[in-house]
Amino acid sequence: MGWDFVKKEEELGEGETESFCEKCNLVCGEKRCPKCGSKKLRTVLSEDFCYAGRVSWFFGESLKFNLESDNIGCVLMPYGSGLNIPYEEYLVYVRYKNLTLVREILKNQDG
Ligand SMILES: [Zn+2]
Repeated sequence: MGWDFVKKEEELGEGETESFCEKCNLVCGEKRCPKCGSKKLRTVLSEDFCYAGRVSWFFGESLKFNLESDNIGCVLMPYGSGLNIPYEEYLVYVRYKNLTLVREILKNQDG
């Protein structure tokens, strides 16, 4: 029974065979990762954490809070050199099954 549900979830991405770079957590429709150039890509799975976008520190904190109250996993990675300036931004990673939703939210953020 449970497996039927899983299968259904996988079929949501029907028609799209997207590749995934495990090194960069990046989903790409290409044969090689646009970030690190690796060709060792595999098909993305719904539970994979994928790069969703870059947000301000403040926006990231509230995004994570809101997503987690909806039981949507969200990982924030501080972004910036961190040498002379404090980290001001986060890189946001969410599961592939939530990626479309979160990208939609990010698109609507100011700035
Ligand atoms: Zn890569």
